Amino acid sequence: MKEGRFESSSDVVHWLQSEAAELWPALLGSLSFRRSPCVRENCPACMSGEQHPSHVLYGRLKGRRVAVYVPEELVPEVRRCLENGRALQELLYEAAPRYIKALKRERTAASRRDES
Ligand SMILES: [Zn+2]
Repeated sequence: MKEGRFESSSDVVHWLQSEAAELWPALLGSLSFRRSPCVRENCPACMSGEQHPSHVLYGRLKGRRVAVYVPEELVPEVRRCLENGRALQELLYEAAPRYIKALKRERTAASRRDES
């Protein structure tokens, strides 16, 4: 943000676009870790109680719960995408008051011009 003046709505759009450009790919959802038994007989992992660890991504789509199995080797990448998703969400929350304030200042400035 430049010093000495208020940002305009297009400043906010440019700021938002440049910040958001760093945040792809972005995903939303919650990554859960679970242990579950398998169907093999006499499986050492199941018999020891260790079972089989796996990750599942839970999300919502049009009000319906969606679950996707995430293979172990993809977990770091999915975590990175979820961090981007949360950062993008924070960014949009931050943008809302800034953009609305800029629009309001511009509306006030335009109405002053109309009066003079
Ligand atoms: Zn097993």
